[in-house]
Amino acid sequence: MTCQQLTRLVGDYVEGRMSTLEQLRFQFHLGLCEPCRVYLRQLEQTRQSLGHLPEEQPPAQVRDELLHRFRAWKATPR
Ligand SMILES: [Zn+2]
Repeated sequence: MTCQQLTRLVGDYVEGRMSTLEQLRFQFHLGLCEPCRVYLRQLEQTRQSLGHLPEEQPPAQVRDELLHRFRAWKATPR
């Protein structure tokens, strides 16, 4: 496995969407390659900090608010 392949597969690795064989090859490369270890660590830190944010923004609430304003605007006589 090359560094390029590793960076392409890193998302699958952190999300556990990888076969056992791929995981072994991935970890083998990590064991040999310092820059890729650093890369993975940074990626996991980023994921963890993002994990504190809500999964979804509240689009339904925003949409209701807009609809409400739109109806009020339409109801206003001109
Ligand atoms: Zn590497």
